[in-house]
Amino acid sequence: MSPQVRSLADLASQAIPGERTLCKCCGSLAPLFGRVDFQKSCEEHNGLFLPPSGIMVPYFRCQACGFLFTRFFDHWTDVEFQAHVYNEDYAAVDPEYANVRPTGWAQSITDGFPTHLSEIEALDWGGGTGRLAELLRASGVRRAETWEPFNPDFASLPEGDFNLISCIEVLEHLPDPKAGVRSLVRPLREEGALLISTLLQPANILEIRTGWWYLAPRNGHISLHSAKSLELVLKGQGCHMKTIMPHVHWAWRQVPFYLKNQA
Ligand SMILES: [Zn+2]
Repeated sequence: MSPQVRSLADLASQAIPGERTLCKCCGSLAPLFGRVDFQKSCEEHNGLFLPPSGIMVPYFRCQACGFLFTRFFDHWTDVEFQAHVYNEDYAAVDPEYANVRPTGWAQSITDGFPTHLSEIEALDWGGGTGRLAELLRASGVRRAETWEPFNPDFASLPEGDFNLISCIEVLEHLPDPKAGVRSLVRPLREEGALLISTLLQPANILEIRTGWWYLAPRNGHISLHSAKSLELVLKGQGCHMKTIMPHVHWAWRQVPFYLKNQA
Protein backbone atom coordinates (compact mmCIF):
# COMPACT_ATOMS: atom_id res chain seq x y z
CA MET A 1 0.00 0.00 0.00
CA SER A 2 1.43 3.41 -0.92
CA PRO A 3 2.65 5.54 2.01
CA GLN A 4 -0.01 8.21 1.65
CA VAL A 5 -2.80 5.65 2.17
CA ARG A 6 -3.30 4.95 5.87
CA SER A 7 -4.53 1.49 6.81
CA LEU A 8 -8.07 1.04 8.07
CA ALA A 9 -6.70 0.41 11.57
CA ASP A 10 -4.67 3.66 11.44
CA LEU A 11 -7.65 5.61 10.20
CA ALA A 12 -9.78 4.15 12.99
CA SER A 13 -7.19 5.03 15.64
CA GLN A 14 -7.18 8.63 14.39
CA ALA A 15 -10.97 8.99 14.45
CA ILE A 16 -12.29 11.45 17.01
CA PRO A 17 -13.67 9.51 19.99
CA GLY A 18 -16.64 10.55 22.11
CA GLU A 19 -20.18 9.87 23.21
CA ARG A 20 -21.61 12.96 21.53
CA THR A 21 -20.81 15.48 18.84
CA LEU A 22 -22.47 18.39 17.07
CA CYS A 23 -24.83 17.85 14.16
CA LYS A 24 -23.27 18.49 10.76
CA CYS A 25 -26.57 19.92 9.47
CA CYS A 26 -27.90 22.13 12.28
CA GLY A 27 -25.20 22.30 14.97
CA SER A 28 -27.37 20.82 17.75
CA LEU A 29 -26.26 18.08 20.10
CA ALA A 30 -26.02 14.64 18.52
CA PRO A 31 -25.54 11.78 21.02
CA LEU A 32 -23.99 8.46 20.08
CA PHE A 33 -26.66 6.32 18.37
CA GLY A 34 -24.71 3.08 18.07
CA ARG A 35 -21.64 1.40 16.60
CA VAL A 36 -21.41 -1.03 13.69
CA ASP A 37 -18.57 -3.00 12.17
CA PHE A 38 -16.90 -1.26 9.22
CA GLN A 39 -17.88 -4.22 7.02
CA LYS A 40 -21.65 -3.72 7.52
CA SER A 41 -23.02 -3.32 4.00
CA CYS A 42 -26.40 -2.71 2.36
CA GLU A 43 -26.27 -6.22 0.94
CA GLU A 44 -26.90 -7.70 4.39
CA HIS A 45 -30.45 -6.82 3.38
CA ASN A 46 -30.08 -9.48 0.66
CA GLY A 47 -28.30 -12.03 2.84
CA LEU A 48 -24.66 -11.18 2.06
CA PHE A 49 -22.62 -10.80 5.26
CA LEU A 50 -18.95 -9.85 4.93
CA PRO A 51 -16.55 -11.14 7.58
CA PRO A 52 -16.32 -8.54 10.39
CA SER A 53 -13.23 -6.30 10.43
CA GLY A 54 -13.27 -5.79 14.21
CA ILE A 55 -13.22 -2.04 13.56
CA MET A 56 -16.30 -0.33 14.95
CA VAL A 57 -17.75 2.80 13.36
CA PRO A 58 -19.76 5.11 15.66
CA TYR A 59 -22.89 6.83 14.34
CA PHE A 60 -24.50 9.86 15.98
CA ARG A 61 -28.06 11.17 15.64
CA CYS A 62 -29.09 14.79 16.05
CA GLN A 63 -31.69 15.45 18.73
CA ALA A 64 -33.06 18.42 16.79
CA CYS A 65 -33.15 17.53 13.08
CA GLY A 66 -32.68 13.75 13.21
CA PHE A 67 -29.61 13.69 10.92
CA LEU A 68 -27.81 10.35 11.44
CA PHE A 69 -24.11 10.35 10.66
CA THR A 70 -20.59 9.30 11.53
CA ARG A 71 -17.40 11.33 11.90
CA PHE A 72 -15.26 8.23 11.32
CA PHE A 73 -14.50 9.30 7.72
CA ASP A 74 -14.11 13.04 8.29
CA HIS A 75 -10.30 12.96 8.04
CA TRP A 76 -10.06 10.53 5.10
CA THR A 77 -8.50 11.59 1.81
CA ASP A 78 -10.06 10.70 -1.56
CA VAL A 79 -7.29 8.15 -2.07
CA GLU A 80 -8.19 6.49 1.23
CA PHE A 81 -11.86 6.32 0.24
CA GLN A 82 -10.77 4.68 -3.01
CA ALA A 83 -8.54 2.20 -1.18
CA HIS A 84 -10.99 1.12 1.52
CA VAL A 85 -14.50 1.87 0.24
CA TYR A 86 -14.70 2.54 -3.52
CA ASN A 87 -12.31 -0.27 -4.36
CA GLU A 88 -12.50 -3.41 -6.50
CA ASP A 89 -14.84 -5.05 -3.96
CA TYR A 90 -17.36 -2.20 -4.00
CA ALA A 91 -19.53 -3.77 -6.72
CA ALA A 92 -20.24 -6.70 -4.40
CA VAL A 93 -21.88 -4.40 -1.83
CA ASP A 94 -23.63 -2.17 -4.40
CA PRO A 95 -24.47 -4.43 -7.34
CA GLU A 96 -26.97 -1.95 -8.88
CA TYR A 97 -24.35 0.78 -9.20
CA ALA A 98 -23.02 -0.01 -12.68
CA ASN A 99 -26.15 -0.60 -14.69
CA VAL A 100 -29.48 -1.27 -12.98
CA ARG A 101 -29.67 2.12 -11.26
CA PRO A 102 -28.60 4.33 -14.22
CA THR A 103 -30.94 2.46 -16.57
CA GLY A 104 -33.90 2.83 -14.18
CA TRP A 105 -33.30 6.54 -13.63
CA ALA A 106 -32.82 7.27 -17.33
CA GLN A 107 -36.16 5.59 -17.94
CA SER A 108 -37.88 7.59 -15.17
CA ILE A 109 -36.56 10.89 -16.50
CA THR A 110 -37.41 10.19 -20.13
CA ASP A 111 -40.87 8.85 -19.20
CA GLY A 112 -41.45 11.79 -16.85
CA PHE A 113 -40.85 14.59 -19.37
CA PRO A 114 -41.22 13.09 -22.86
CA THR A 115 -42.18 16.40 -24.48
CA HIS A 116 -39.38 18.40 -22.87
CA LEU A 117 -36.33 16.21 -23.51
CA SER A 118 -34.88 18.49 -26.19
CA GLU A 119 -34.93 21.40 -23.72
CA ILE A 120 -33.34 19.59 -20.81
CA GLU A 121 -29.70 20.29 -19.96
CA ALA A 122 -28.72 17.78 -17.33
CA LEU A 123 -25.80 17.17 -15.06
CA ASP A 124 -25.48 13.87 -13.22
CA TRP A 125 -23.66 14.95 -10.08
CA GLY A 126 -21.61 12.12 -8.59
CA GLY A 127 -22.50 10.13 -11.69
CA GLY A 128 -20.08 7.21 -11.31
CA THR A 129 -19.35 5.64 -14.67
CA GLY A 130 -21.22 8.27 -16.66
CA ARG A 131 -23.86 5.76 -17.72
CA LEU A 132 -26.96 7.79 -16.79
CA ALA A 133 -25.82 10.82 -18.80
CA GLU A 134 -24.95 8.55 -21.74
CA LEU A 135 -28.45 7.03 -21.69
CA LEU A 136 -30.07 10.47 -21.44
CA ARG A 137 -28.11 11.72 -24.47
CA ALA A 138 -29.21 8.64 -26.41
CA SER A 139 -32.83 9.42 -25.48
CA GLY A 140 -32.72 12.89 -27.00
CA VAL A 141 -31.89 15.06 -23.98
CA ARG A 142 -30.24 18.24 -25.32
CA ARG A 143 -27.21 18.05 -23.04
CA ALA A 144 -26.29 15.50 -20.38
CA GLU A 145 -22.97 15.57 -18.57
CA THR A 146 -21.37 13.76 -15.66
CA TRP A 147 -19.32 14.97 -12.75
CA GLU A 148 -17.63 12.30 -10.66
CA PRO A 149 -14.59 13.06 -8.52
CA PHE A 150 -13.68 9.37 -8.19
CA ASN A 151 -13.62 8.78 -11.96
CA PRO A 152 -10.70 10.46 -13.81
CA ASP A 153 -12.86 10.70 -16.98
CA PHE A 154 -15.36 12.97 -15.22
CA ALA A 155 -13.30 14.55 -12.45
CA SER A 156 -13.66 18.14 -13.64
CA LEU A 157 -17.00 19.88 -13.39
CA PRO A 158 -18.48 20.44 -16.87
CA GLU A 159 -18.78 24.09 -17.90
CA GLY A 160 -21.97 26.06 -17.82
CA ASP A 161 -25.14 25.65 -15.83
CA PHE A 162 -27.97 23.13 -15.94
CA ASN A 163 -31.75 23.02 -15.60
CA LEU A 164 -31.76 19.47 -14.23
CA ILE A 165 -29.16 18.13 -11.83
CA SER A 166 -29.53 14.53 -10.74
CA CYS A 167 -27.90 13.34 -7.56
CA ILE A 168 -28.65 9.65 -7.39
CA GLU A 169 -27.52 7.79 -4.27
CA VAL A 170 -24.80 10.34 -3.57
CA LEU A 171 -25.78 12.52 -0.59
CA GLU A 172 -25.50 9.60 1.85
CA HIS A 173 -21.81 9.30 0.84
CA LEU A 174 -20.82 12.89 1.65
CA PRO A 175 -18.91 13.47 4.89
CA ASP A 176 -19.90 17.17 4.86
CA PRO A 177 -23.62 17.45 4.02
CA LYS A 178 -23.77 21.25 3.93
CA ALA A 179 -20.69 21.74 1.75
CA GLY A 180 -21.91 18.92 -0.50
CA VAL A 181 -25.30 20.48 -1.12
CA ARG A 182 -23.67 23.88 -1.66
CA SER A 183 -21.57 22.41 -4.51
CA LEU A 184 -24.56 20.49 -5.83
CA VAL A 185 -26.66 23.64 -6.16
CA ARG A 186 -23.90 25.85 -7.60
CA PRO A 187 -24.29 24.80 -11.29
CA LEU A 188 -28.12 24.81 -11.07
CA ARG A 189 -30.01 27.46 -13.00
CA GLU A 190 -32.46 29.65 -11.11
CA GLU A 191 -35.25 27.84 -12.99
CA GLY A 192 -33.92 24.33 -12.60
CA ALA A 193 -34.43 21.37 -10.31
CA LEU A 194 -32.44 18.85 -8.39
CA LEU A 195 -33.57 15.25 -8.64
CA ILE A 196 -32.22 13.67 -5.48
CA SER A 197 -32.28 10.02 -4.56
CA THR A 198 -31.29 9.22 -1.00
CA LEU A 199 -33.34 7.07 1.35
CA LEU A 200 -34.81 8.89 4.35
CA GLN A 201 -34.78 7.23 7.74
CA PRO A 202 -37.83 5.05 8.34
CA ALA A 203 -40.45 5.92 10.97
CA ASN A 204 -39.18 3.15 13.27
CA ILE A 205 -35.52 4.25 13.23
CA LEU A 206 -35.48 4.61 17.05
CA GLU A 207 -36.42 0.93 17.34
CA ILE A 208 -34.19 -0.57 14.66
CA ARG A 209 -31.36 1.92 15.27
CA THR A 210 -28.06 0.94 13.58
CA GLY A 211 -29.70 -2.29 12.39
CA TRP A 212 -31.25 -0.25 9.54
CA TRP A 213 -30.03 -1.84 6.31
CA TYR A 214 -29.13 1.49 4.66
CA LEU A 215 -26.73 2.42 7.49
CA ALA A 216 -23.63 0.80 6.03
CA PRO A 217 -20.07 2.06 6.39
CA ARG A 218 -18.77 -0.49 3.86
CA ASN A 219 -20.98 1.21 1.26
CA GLY A 220 -19.75 4.64 2.32
CA HIS A 221 -23.23 5.42 3.70
CA ILE A 222 -22.15 7.94 6.28
CA SER A 223 -24.75 10.77 6.11
CA LEU A 224 -28.31 9.53 6.55
CA HIS A 225 -31.00 12.13 6.32
CA SER A 226 -34.33 12.62 8.01
CA ALA A 227 -36.91 14.64 6.04
CA LYS A 228 -36.09 17.53 8.37
CA SER A 229 -32.31 17.46 7.91
CA LEU A 230 -32.52 17.16 4.13
CA GLU A 231 -35.00 20.02 3.95
CA LEU A 232 -32.74 22.08 6.20
CA VAL A 233 -29.59 21.72 4.08
CA LEU A 234 -31.55 22.40 0.89
CA LYS A 235 -33.28 25.42 2.41
CA GLY A 236 -29.83 26.69 3.36
CA GLN A 237 -29.19 26.94 -0.40
CA GLY A 238 -32.53 28.61 -1.09
CA CYS A 239 -34.22 25.43 -2.32
CA HIS A 240 -37.72 24.21 -1.65
CA MET A 241 -37.97 20.41 -1.33
CA LYS A 242 -40.74 18.01 -2.31
CA THR A 243 -40.44 14.33 -1.38
CA ILE A 244 -42.13 12.01 -3.88
CA MET A 245 -41.11 8.69 -2.32
CA PRO A 246 -38.97 7.90 0.75
CA HIS A 247 -35.92 7.84 -1.55
CA VAL A 248 -36.91 10.40 -4.20
CA HIS A 249 -36.92 14.16 -3.72
CA TRP A 250 -37.19 17.16 -6.01
CA ALA A 251 -35.78 20.54 -5.01
CA TRP A 252 -35.77 23.92 -6.74
CA ARG A 253 -35.46 27.65 -6.23
CA GLN A 254 -37.93 28.37 -9.05
CA VAL A 255 -39.98 25.56 -10.53
CA PRO A 256 -38.56 24.73 -13.97
CA PHE A 257 -40.78 24.49 -17.07
CA TYR A 258 -40.73 20.70 -17.13
CA LEU A 259 -42.10 20.42 -13.59
CA LYS A 260 -44.70 23.18 -13.81
CA ASN A 261 -47.71 20.91 -14.11
CA GLN A 262 -46.35 18.47 -11.51
CA ALA A 263 -44.91 20.68 -8.74
ZN1 LIG B 1 -29.28 18.48 13.36
